[in-house]
Amino acid sequence: MIGIDIEQEKIEIIRKYRTLLRHAKPFLQSDDAKLIRKAFNIALEAHKGTRRRSGEPYIYHPLAVAHICVDEIGLGTTSIVAALLHDVVEDTDIELEDIENDFGSKVASIINGLTKISGEFEYGSSQQAENFRKMLLTLSEDVRVILIKLADRLHNMRTLDSMPRNKQLRISSETSYLYAPLAHRLGLYAIKSEMEDLVLKYTDGDTYIEIIKDIDATKEVRNRFIKRFIRPIHKELNGCNFKFEIKGRPKSIHSIWTKMNKQDIPFDEVYDLFAIRIIIETPLDNEKSACWKVYSIVTDFYKPNPDRLRDWISTPKANGYESLHTTVMSNDGQWVEVQIRAKRMDDIAEKGYAAHWKYKDTAASQESGLEQWIDKIRELLQQNDMSAIEFITDFRSNLFQEEVFVFTPQGDLKRLANGSTALDFAFEIHSEVGMRCLGAKVNQKLVPLHYVLKNGDQVEILTSEKQKPSEDWLRFVVSSKASQRIKEGLKEEKKVIAAEGKEIMLRKLKKLKIDPNNENFDKLRAFFNVNNQLDLFYKMAKGFIEVKDLKKFKEDSSKVNGRKKIGKITDAKSFEKEITKIRKRKEDILLIGEDMDLVDYKFAKCCSPIPGDDVFGFVSVNEGIKIHRTSCPNAPELLSNHGHRVVKAKWASKHQEAYTVGLEILGTDRVGLINDVTQVISTELKVNMRSISVDTDTGIFEGKIVLYINDSKHLDILITRLELVSGVVKVKRFDYTPDDEPVKKQA
Ligand code: MN
Repeated sequence: MIGIDIEQEKIEIIRKYRTLLRHAKPFLQSDDAKLIRKAFNIALEAHKGTRRRSGEPYIYHPLAVAHICVDEIGLGTTSIVAALLHDVVEDTDIELEDIENDFGSKVASIINGLTKISGEFEYGSSQQAENFRKMLLTLSEDVRVILIKLADRLHNMRTLDSMPRNKQLRISSETSYLYAPLAHRLGLYAIKSEMEDLVLKYTDGDTYIEIIKDIDATKEVRNRFIKRFIRPIHKELNGCNFKFEIKGRPKSIHSIWTKMNKQDIPFDEVYDLFAIRIIIETPLDNEKSACWKVYSIVTDFYKPNPDRLRDWISTPKANGYESLHTTVMSNDGQWVEVQIRAKRMDDIAEKGYAAHWKYKDTAASQESGLEQWIDKIRELLQQNDMSAIEFITDFRSNLFQEEVFVFTPQGDLKRLANGSTALDFAFEIHSEVGMRCLGAKVNQKLVPLHYVLKNGDQVEILTSEKQKPSEDWLRFVVSSKASQRIKEGLKEEKKVIAAEGKEIMLRKLKKLKIDPNNENFDKLRAFFNVNNQLDLFYKMAKGFIEVKDLKKFKEDSSKVNGRKKIGKITDAKSFEKEITKIRKRKEDILLIGEDMDLVDYKFAKCCSPIPGDDVFGFVSVNEGIKIHRTSCPNAPELLSNHGHRVVKAKWASKHQEAYTVGLEILGTDRVGLINDVTQVISTELKVNMRSISVDTDTGIFEGKIVLYINDSKHLDILITRLELVSGVVKVKRFDYTPDDEPVKKQA
C-alpha cells in the first residue's frame, strides 16, 4: 500500500461518478440526478476507508456496476441507485430500513434481493442453492435484481486478477454454471460472451492467450476479405436508399474455443471465425420486409446454403432475439454467415431484457417468449416442495432448452422445449389435461404419450376421466412443470391409498390380536422389508400384504420374542439382518457391491424393479444407492457417463411363487383386437388371467389385465408378444389395487 495518492483517488472517484451521470443523462427525468447523487454520497461514505483486494477504493466497484447497468444493459435511475448501494447493507452499518426511508420500498426490495444472494454458489451446497432460489424469487417481482446481479458478477469477473487462485476458479465455475446461462436466457448476449471469455481466461489461460494471438495475427487478411465481400452489397443497399451499417466482427474467444474443441480442429480450420452483420434503420412496420429485401440483395451476389437459413424474425427466440441469419458462399469458396436485422432488433440482441422492455411500449408488442419464460420460472418457484438443489438442476435445464413449435387443433402456436412429448404438451395446455391424458393425435394420427413433438405438429390431446398419472410418465416428460405435477399426483395418490391401507391393517391386526403399537409397527416394517409406515400401509392396500402374511408375522415374531429380542435397528444393514433373522432365510434380499454387501438402497422410480429383475446399483448424490433395472431407459446414460458410480447388485434369491401383475394395453380399437390379445395371453403363453377390463372410447382401446406371472422374464416375453399384436400401441406394467380390480365384462 505504498504510494497511494489520496488526493488523486478522490479526483478519480469524482471523474468516474461524472462519467456515470453523463452516460445516464439521456434517460434521466426531473429529480433523478439528485437521487443518484444522494445514493452515490451514501455509498461513498459507507465504504469509506475500505479497499478492494486490488488495493483500489471500494467505491470503484459499485460505480462500475452502476455503469454496466447503464451502458451495457440500458437500465434507468432505480437500478443505478440500487447498483450504487448494492453492497452497503451487506458490508456496512447501513440497514435496509435506512435505504427504505431514503429511497423508498422499490429500491429497498431490490437491494434486499441482492443481499440475499451474496456469497458464492458451490455446486451441491444446498445453502447457496437456496440463496439462488431466493434471488430468482425476486425475479418474479422485479427482474432488475437479476440484471444488477449480473452486472455485479461481470465486474467481479473483470477484476478477478487480484483474487487468489482458488477463488478465481470457484467464481469462474459458478459464472459458467449459472450466470452466463442466465445472461443468455435474458438475452444479454454481450455480457454472456464476455463472461464466457473471462471464464476461459481464468480456467485455461494459455489457450485463451493463444486464441487472442491467433485472432490478431489473422486480422489483416480477414479485414481485407470482409471488405471485398461487402463491397457489392454496400453499393446495392446504397442504391436502394437503405440507411444501414455493416459490421464484420470475429466471434467470441469462447465460441471459437468451443468449435476447436467440439470438432477437434486447430484455429486455422475454424472457418466461421466471424460473421457479417447488416443493421438497417427502418420503421417498425417495415422491418420484416426490409430484412427480406436485404436478404434478397445478399443472395443475389452470393449463393446461400439452404440448410443454414434461420428466420428468427417471424418467430423470435424465447429470449427475445430477432434476426435473419443465412450462410452464403463467398467468391473465394468460403462460407460466410450473414446476420440481417433492424436497429431495434440489434439493440435487443445486445442488451437483452431491458432493451426489449423499453421497446415494448412502442412496439406493437407481441407476446414475448421472455415474459412466458419468467412466468414459467414463477410457476416453478411456487412449487416449493422441491429441494433447492433439485430446483437449480431444473432451472438450469430450463436455461439451455432449445425449442420446438407446435399447434393446437385451433391453430394456436405453442412453444415447448426441444424433446417435449405429447404428454408435455398436455400439461402445457392444463395440468388437468395432463393428468387425464391418454394419448394424442398428431396430424390426425394416433400417437402414444411419449411421442416426441416435431416442429409444425398439430396436436390434439385425448383424455379419459379414468386416467391417472403413473411413475413411468416421469420418463416421458422433459418440462419441469409436467414432472412436478406428475410427482405431486403420484404422491397424493399414494397417500390416499396408504390411508386406506392403514384402516385395513388396523382391522386385520385387531382380528389377529396384534397390538397396533409402535414397536409392532417397527417389527412389521422389518418383516415386510419396507422403509416407512407409508410404504407399509401402501403395500397393505395394494394387496402385497395378505392376512396369511400377517399370521406368519405373528407366529414368527412370537417365536423370535421367545428366544431373543429384536436388536435395535439403526441402519439399513442391521435392518436387513433383523429381517433375515425373522424370516430365517434370505429371500428377496438385495446384495450390493463387489462383496455383495447389504447397504442402504432405494428403488429407482424410473423403472421400479421387482424381485427377479436384472438390476444394478447407482450411487446417487443425495439418496444413497438407487437400484435400477438393467433395462431402465436411463441405464445407458448412467453407465456411460457415470460408470464409476455404478455398483453391482443382484437378488439373493428369486421369488418362486407366482405373483400378480397388472398390464395396461393401449391401442387403436379394431374388431377382434381383444380376442387377439387374450389369445396371446392364455393360449400362446399359458398365462392365467385374474381379470380383464376393456374400454373403448373415441377410437382408443384401453385394456387392463391382471395376471399371475412367475418371474420377470416371463413377463417380458408376454409384453413383447402383446406389442406385436396389430393395433396395440403400448403395453405397460402397472401396480394394481385389489379395490379397483377390474370386473370382467363383455367388450
Ligand atoms: Mn458487489
